[in-house]
Amino acid sequence: MIKEIIQLLSEGQRKRGVWVVFSVLLRAILDFVGVAALIPIFLVVIKQDDGRGPMLALCGAVLLFVLLKNALVASLARVQSRYQLEIYREFSRRMFANYYHRGLLFLKGKSSVRLGHEVNYVCYMFSSCVLAPVFRMAGEAVLVLLMVTALVVWESFAGFLLCASFLPLAALYVGLVRKRLRRYGMEELEARRKQSRTVVEAYRGYAELEIACAFHTSLASFNQGLEFIVRNRLRMEVYQLFPSFLSEVAIVVGLALLIGSGSGDLGLVSGVFAVAAFRLIPAVRSVLNSWVTLQNASHTITVVEKGISNEPQQDGQSEASFSFKQGIELRNLSFAFPDGHVLFNDLNLNIHCGERIGIRGASGSGKSTLFNLMLGFFPPTSGRILIDGRELTSANRNEWHKLVGYVPQEIFIIEGTLADNIALGQPQADRTKVVQVLEQVQLREWADELPQGLDTPLGEYGSRLSGGQKQRIGIARALYKEAEVLFFDEATSALDNKTEQGINHALETLSLQHRELTLIVIAHRGSSLAFCDRIFDLDVCDIVYNSKV
Ligand code: ADP
Ligand code: MG
Repeated sequence: MIKEIIQLLSEGQRKRGVWVVFSVLLRAILDFVGVAALIPIFLVVIKQDDGRGPMLALCGAVLLFVLLKNALVASLARVQSRYQLEIYREFSRRMFANYYHRGLLFLKGKSSVRLGHEVNYVCYMFSSCVLAPVFRMAGEAVLVLLMVTALVVWESFAGFLLCASFLPLAALYVGLVRKRLRRYGMEELEARRKQSRTVVEAYRGYAELEIACAFHTSLASFNQGLEFIVRNRLRMEVYQLFPSFLSEVAIVVGLALLIGSGSGDLGLVSGVFAVAAFRLIPAVRSVLNSWVTLQNASHTITVVEKGISNEPQQDGQSEASFSFKQGIELRNLSFAFPDGHVLFNDLNLNIHCGERIGIRGASGSGKSTLFNLMLGFFPPTSGRILIDGRELTSANRNEWHKLVGYVPQEIFIIEGTLADNIALGQPQADRTKVVQVLEQVQLREWADELPQGLDTPLGEYGSRLSGGQKQRIGIARALYKEAEVLFFDEATSALDNKTEQGINHALETLSLQHRELTLIVIAHRGSSLAFCDRIFDLDVCDIVYNSKV
């Protein structure tokens, strides 16, 4: 497991890790010296030869030493904590970016709640329940080793007895619970994921759950999850109590064996035994508990490994920008999903610059997927997409996107103001331009009536917007960006007839106002495409000329 963890670390992290290990060992040695410092006091107290004055002076000296030692230990502990948190920060950041860069096909195939859980929770767990226990175990194990060695050297019989009474118990414990702990950990992580999903689903699907009177099923599933997590936690608590039982039993058994054997200065040896036990029991408990935590969280290593691997290859050379004077050409384009579902086979289509082209087809015929291909989100299985004769690839698609406006079926609204949403990705919106584009999509009056105008927050996921308003905001976004090509995917289900007509009217006006704009419009109904020059019908995979043209 240690090897797996080391493999996750970068060169620099490994180097700093060595320092942390060093600081952990130093702490163990300091702790050992701290315990050893108590022994002179103990010996003096037992002998009672000197007066109380020197004894108090000795106590004072030891106290000073202990204070200094603990200050040093505290600063060393900080080195370790900082290292762990730095790893958390680095892994979480990398996983977040990695998942994003794996692209749309990856993200569509995964639950976003699950990915969010991994980026936030699992990375933190890796730092606090894998790295931290490893360091703690290393430190405390060294401390135990030092103390037992000292005991063996100083009073070998007592030391051996202690080992003999403890080691078999510890081995038995480790052997018995190891597999179980790992399984519990995995089950708990799964349960927590499911809990997050249940919550998000219930809140998002409020209306439908309410109408179907189905909230009780969500609640039941949530309760079941809670029940499971609580039961799991309780079980874990019990397992974590065992180590302290074990070490206490071992000490008492060791003492009994010592008395039974009848050798050595009993008073002295048992006193030393007690001093050692004062730190030995917590240390052993800590080693075993850390081990329990580590076993329980061991599967996070796999998740982190998968999440931070294959850092996106940043192509060194910056791609040249695209020109868009001629058009888009789909040449022998084929596409199949990773699950083997073939959608397009040898598709050919030319879209000319400045053209208004409609895309029609039954639901599920692949209209949205065709957009994802033309936007470079999905790689073609075979065939090519050419922009002014230059092939679109995942490496140069960012340059293509600079010319493109995209209004998807479901508009993504960020949790921000109206202005922020229109100038998406720009920290400072150009307010005059925002007003201008709002005018063009006929949202100006609506915006003026909003309580804070352009600065009105739109609510989570645009919860305060209607479907039609969202679509218009999507178009306004493309206009604000001064896109040369507009991809418009009609939200067939979200819009009523009147709103749909309104949107179509807006698009039509847009196409008249901006003759240079290339419009590629997906629509369910042929009537929505009346203003288009040509229509591509996906059901027959061919151009159907508009009756009006
Ligand atoms: P349209 O927009 O025309 O309604 P889509 O392009 O959204 O259709 O989907 C086309 C087909 O591809 C549908 O049959 C859908 O079930 C399928 N599909 C969509 N996403 C995936 C995916 N990630 N894996 C496999 N099949 C998919
Ligand atoms: Mg679609």
